[in-house]
Amino acid sequence: MAKRDILSLYLSELEAAIVQMGEKKFRARQIFTWLHQRKVTDFSEMTDLSIQFRERLSEEFYICSPISVKTLASTLDDTVKYLYGLSDGARIETVLMSYHHGNSLCISTQVGCKMGCQFCASTIAGYVRDLTAGEMLGQIYASERNSGRTVGGLVLMGIGEPLDNYENVIRFLKILSAPEGRGMSLRHVSLSTCGLVPMIDCLAQEEFGLTLSVSLHATNDSRRSEIMPVNRKYPIDELMRACKRYCAKTGRRITFEYAVIDGVNADVRAADEMAALLKGFSCHVNLIPVNPVKERSFRTGRDTVYTFQKLLAARGINATVRRTLGSDIEAACGQLRREEAKIN
Ligand code: SAH
Repeated sequence: MAKRDILSLYLSELEAAIVQMGEKKFRARQIFTWLHQRKVTDFSEMTDLSIQFRERLSEEFYICSPISVKTLASTLDDTVKYLYGLSDGARIETVLMSYHHGNSLCISTQVGCKMGCQFCASTIAGYVRDLTAGEMLGQIYASERNSGRTVGGLVLMGIGEPLDNYENVIRFLKILSAPEGRGMSLRHVSLSTCGLVPMIDCLAQEEFGLTLSVSLHATNDSRRSEIMPVNRKYPIDELMRACKRYCAKTGRRITFEYAVIDGVNADVRAADEMAALLKGFSCHVNLIPVNPVKERSFRTGRDTVYTFQKLLAARGINATVRRTLGSDIEAACGQLRREEAKIN
């Protein structure tokens, strides 16, 4: 029988499994603490359980622990990028960023991506599979072990579309915030989506209190459909209505991500359209200088972002510009995994 992924289990499921093994229910809590607070990678480390029980656990379960295949540390800032190998050989990326208020980790939610955004490296070689909740938790625990730092904030902005792996992402968030485990407040979590409208509505029902980031990147349907195929299914108008429903239901402000691209989405017309789209909507706009991807021609000139920021300000939109971290280590989604795939 195949071993079960123990990191992906809710405490209640672990309790049921432990009772079925003929052990006392409270043992599940001990194991949950070892897994999610002490971040052990082997059952032999669970020293308050009998050796016999530890052996039986290792026959029934495995602890997912991504192995660092490559680590790139920025010489410009404290950003560290990990290329992790999973048990089936799949590769994903995780980026640890240092801010004055603490460390934030950018995790992947899928191996590859189906969404086809033109400027993004994650999508070039297509989609391979979804990550399990345990593989998402494993990225946090492995990065903390490898760096010796504590992760205070989390962004679901690595490889993949989190709302295209909805069930596993929800499971991950519930285990992450379980008080008997890590107990992380989901207020410190941002989830970024390219705009899967029905799943935005589902997420609103969860009452997580997390920050929803929506990758907008263009202000009219013809341009957005060109660079983000998802727009053909869920056009801007539908997306904006879902965002407004999300705000009304959760009381949380949405962040719109906007990768500023020369000659594509940073002119006066785009600023006018953005002002019309966001009129009366209490939200946050974050401008991102596009990270050049070798296979693509998209670029951001040195001044384009600030010029566009001024155009927006003149129209009443106060946008922030994202600090570029790890620009010397290919820190944009999917770039490192892509490079490795090309070499092998
Ligand atoms: N699929 C999700 C999350 C992963 S991408 C989403 O689309 O939001 C995380 C963010 O990085 C998104 O805003 C995405 O559009 C942006 N991004 C992807 N490639 C980029 C690049 N080359 N330069 C700048 N931002 C990029």
